[in-house]
Order: sequence, then structure tokens, then C-alpha cells
Amino acid sequence: MFDLTDQIALVTGGAKGIGKGIARVLASAGATVIIADIDEAVGKASAEELNGHYFYLDVSSHKSCKQLVSAVIRDFERLDILCSNTGIFPQCDLVTMTEQHWDEMHDINLKGTFFMVQAALEVMRPQSYGRIVITSSITGPVTGFPGWTHYAASKAGQLGFMRSAALECARDGITINAVMPGNILTEGLQAQGEDYLEQMKAAIPTRSLGTPDDIGHAACFLASKEARYITGQTLIVDGGQVLPESPEA
Ligand code: NAD
Repeated sequence: MFDLTDQIALVTGGAKGIGKGIARVLASAGATVIIADIDEAVGKASAEELNGHYFYLDVSSHKSCKQLVSAVIRDFERLDILCSNTGIFPQCDLVTMTEQHWDEMHDINLKGTFFMVQAALEVMRPQSYGRIVITSSITGPVTGFPGWTHYAASKAGQLGFMRSAALECARDGITINAVMPGNILTEGLQAQGEDYLEQMKAAIPTRSLGTPDDIGHAACFLASKEARYITGQTLIVDGGQVLPESPEA
């Protein structure tokens, strides 16, 4: 376990699912955790459960992202770790997809990542320290999935953004990396239905879905001081799903 004592950590989309798993692991490593989420009721309850703090965030709004970081600095004076995790994944076939579907996906998943990382860098640069971990996905960067073209584009886009941003702040003591979850059992995934979950389980070499804490542990490593020499990289956490399995396995 890495020691995050005295570290101020902000987790977006931290009210539930993977974000809550990340918040839980960071808190158990000693960080002061701030959950930022659009869902005020669940966000407050999760923050209380983890002995952390809650702030409102609509990640698709530039103003909301900037206000969030200002509020963190006002209350905690610094920001050491940003886990930019918020994301949505409603399914939609390409033939029926409207511009609105496309824009909603990108406003939250991709533009939201840009807004949050930019706002965090404004305070991390003067500190000469920061750890940013973006939650991407295997869908898009490594695999494709019918019904998720807009999602796949947003998740691949996050990685292009992450690599270039990592280079822009490589001399500032700031690292930017991404975790790429496979199928992690969250409310968002459960919404895809039982058939989908069974199909996915059968396709994963471990024959099990991941847990939010599995992603939390990976994020905790990338958020630690010890990961100082890792930047612009991706860490796949998927039970081996993207490995081609031999027929005898
Ligand atoms: P989830 O739906 O369970 O949780 C998402 C959280 O984001 C919720 O708390 C929700 O209130 C919040 N949120 C939604 N819109 C927001 C907005 N505009 N502003 C602020 N907060 C908002 O999702 P999850 O499964 O935990 O996924 C989290 C991240 O992990 C996403 O980026 C997703 O793409 C990625 N991911 C998930 C899986 C998986 O299998 N669950 C796999 C790969 C990648």
C-alpha cells in the first residue's frame, strides 16, 4: 500500500462506481479525499462513508470545473491528486445516433477531462507537484464494441489528450497517466443488463468482472509519489480481456 498521508485528492464522478472505489482506496492510503459529482445526495453519502468531503460538479461545464478547483484551494490550500474519472456510457447504434447523443458523450467524457485537467494544472504548476489519473477504457483505445462508437471515440480521445498533456507538464513535477478498465461491476455496467454481464464474464480470461477497488488500487499506484517517473502511460486493468486467449485455455 502506498502512503498518501497529507495528500489532497480530488475524484470526479466519485459518488459511486469506479470513482467511489478510487476514493475508497485513496482514503485508505491516508489521503484527504474530495468526491466531486453531479449527484449531490449520493455524493454526500459516499463522502461521509469514506470520511471525506463532497463538492458539486457538472464536469461538462467549464465554470463548474473551475469553481470546484477554486473551492478545493479555498478549503484545503493545495491539490495533489486529480482522478478525472467521470464518464457516461449509454449505448446507441450508429445509424440512429443523433448529434445530441454524440455531443452529450463528448461534453462529459472528453471535454470534461480537458476542463478538469486544465483547472487542476493551474494550481499544480505553481506547487511544482501533481498526479493526474484519467479513467479511460479498453473500449476505443484497444477494442471496439458495437453500439458504443461515440463512447469509444471519447475514450481513445482521452488518451491522445493525456499523452500530449503529460509532455506539456513533464518538467513541472506533474505526471498524467490513464487507467483503462475492462468490465467493472458498477451501476453503470449493470444498466447494460444481465445478458451483457454474462456475455462479458464468459469473454474475460479470469471469468470474473472487476470491482471498483481493482481500479482504485491501480489509480493509487499512479497517484503515489513513487510513480514519479511514469507519465503519459496507460495501465490496463481488465482480467486479461484484451489478450487473445488460445483455444485450449
Ligand atoms: P457510474 O455510472 O457507475 O458512475 C459515474 C459517476 O459519474 C456517477 O456518480 C455520476 O453521478 C457521475 N456523473 C455523471 N455525469 C456527471 C457530470 N456531468 N458531472 C459530474 N459527475 C457526473 O460509472 P462507472 O462504471 O463507475 O464509470 C466510471 C468511469 O469508468 C467512466 O469514465 C467510464 O467510462 C469508465 N469505465 C467504466 C467501465 C465499467 O465497466 N464500469 C469500463 C471502462 C471504463
